Amino acid sequence: MSGVAPNFLKQIIEKDIKENTHQGKVITRFPPEPNGYLHLGHAKAICLNFGLAADYSGRCHLRFDDTNPETEDVEYVESIKNDIKWLGFDWKNHLYFASDYFQQLYDWAVELIKADKAYVCSLSEEDLRKYRGDFNTPGKNSPYRNRSVEENLDLFARMRKGEFGEGSHVLRAKIDMSSPNMNMRDPLLYRIRKAKHHRTGDAWCIYPMYDFAHPLSDAIEHITHSVCTLEFQDHRPFYDWCIENVKTPAQPRQYEFARLNMTYLVMSKRKLLQLVKEGLVFGWDDPRMPTISGMRRRGYTPEALRSFAHRIGVSKAESLLDFDILENAVRDDLDERSHRAMAVLNPIKVTIQNLPADHKEELETSVHPKKPELGKRKLFFTKEIFIDDADFKENPEADFFRLAPGKEVRLRNAYVIKCNEIVKDISGKITELKCDYLPETKAGKPTADGRKIKGIVHWVSATECVDAEVRLYDRLFAVAHPEDVPEGKDWKGNLNANSLKVITNAKLEKSLMDARTGNRYQFERVGYFCLDEKDSTPGRMVFNMVVNLAGGH
Ligand code: ATP
Ligand code: MG
Repeated sequence: MSGVAPNFLKQIIEKDIKENTHQGKVITRFPPEPNGYLHLGHAKAICLNFGLAADYSGRCHLRFDDTNPETEDVEYVESIKNDIKWLGFDWKNHLYFASDYFQQLYDWAVELIKADKAYVCSLSEEDLRKYRGDFNTPGKNSPYRNRSVEENLDLFARMRKGEFGEGSHVLRAKIDMSSPNMNMRDPLLYRIRKAKHHRTGDAWCIYPMYDFAHPLSDAIEHITHSVCTLEFQDHRPFYDWCIENVKTPAQPRQYEFARLNMTYLVMSKRKLLQLVKEGLVFGWDDPRMPTISGMRRRGYTPEALRSFAHRIGVSKAESLLDFDILENAVRDDLDERSHRAMAVLNPIKVTIQNLPADHKEELETSVHPKKPELGKRKLFFTKEIFIDDADFKENPEADFFRLAPGKEVRLRNAYVIKCNEIVKDISGKITELKCDYLPETKAGKPTADGRKIKGIVHWVSATECVDAEVRLYDRLFAVAHPEDVPEGKDWKGNLNANSLKVITNAKLEKSLMDARTGNRYQFERVGYFCLDEKDSTPGRMVFNMVVNLAGGH
């Protein structure tokens, strides 16, 4: 997939600029709630918001929508900032917190009460729900709807002072209980929460609802285009109501796009949090997680994620994208940047019988086949080498062109070898292959009689190599639609039990001794790998498989 989907938001912005709406300015924002780590869907929203601002010489704010003290935390604030920077975006000095606006929002709520557009309602939570009605039934007015302005002002002030318990009163907008849009049935503006906030501490015990805080925060920051996902479409009338009924310094507009959904993934902070809390993954940055921190550790690059976001475009129609689109973007990026190396993940020893014991021959090959400027790397051809288990078969089928008894195969970048003998241990397991090499076949040269050698396998010197742990990953979920489960079944039952395979005794070519965390490596014929930043130590390298070479699972 190379085409780029059209971006309907650009058309809206271009029209606004032409008509001088918002004085021709473009100010967007990315508004995460600091209640979890960012995931791939957020990466899409970040690329979109920062990208639009950059395209039209505007700016993009980072605003934390921190209106739910119970679930939010500074750990999340810091991780979110870190992830956005890593993705390559910069909010410059436009870092904001909805909690910084609590006083302003409170003052505006008081204004709404004075204008008889908001009232304190004392229905219980259950009654609030009953009175609201549902899709087929209009709501009923709350018995508290006609409280006087004075009584409302007094009660709201006392709510703020902490005189009442949680759930005893709420502040609601006075709009229309019979509206076909549930969000317009006197939505809540404030509720009592006796919880410590990660930034405002105990200063407040009433907190604004997201739907009230969000449009007004946008207005305070003079946001022009407030871009969010489709599930907020039905909230837009209330967004507009807030902007119309409060004397805001600006008139932002909300636009919705389809959220990113992908096969084999769940993309909800709440669900990802469950995986972390229940120990089903090794934390938010587990390389199998679709979090930005997980993908970073896995070895995806910011360029790959930005290119992915660009490829999938932005649309107004819900869709479910194939996981392969993501992996292909990663492969395309890694093919360009990855140093090549040979690594044997399931080693089987090969002894070259016609070499002396101390033979150590230096061979040279390129670091990158298409980038001579990256230079050469050294390989060492020695009497004992390793090849991969899968490249040898004792009883090969007719179409198996790799090594087998009496058969020949070419060692990549080295010589052709011929298998003379198999050595087995008492359990019958093959422990060694005895071979001869053909001296005339160095570095791709033909055999003396010019006969064709079809198979090429990778190999590593057994004496000039590096031992490493290699972690192979498969999809986190075994099924394409992990969230589709029958009533009573747990979506977590769809986790892929084989999503992680640890190889503790991989043998890597010696050039990988210099592997660095910022680099990516193609283990030839296997896949793309990177050094694990967290678990590698000076004495022991741990590599993560970023993605396999060919696709397919
Ligand atoms: P989640 O559903 O995973 O909890 P959220 O929408 O509650 O995500 P927020 O922190 O509120 O998370 O999201 C910040 C921004 O990221 C919002 O503007 C939201 O629309 C956007 N966003 C979240 N998930 C996706 C997604 N899957 N695709 C595109 N944008 C997303
Ligand atoms: Mg949310």
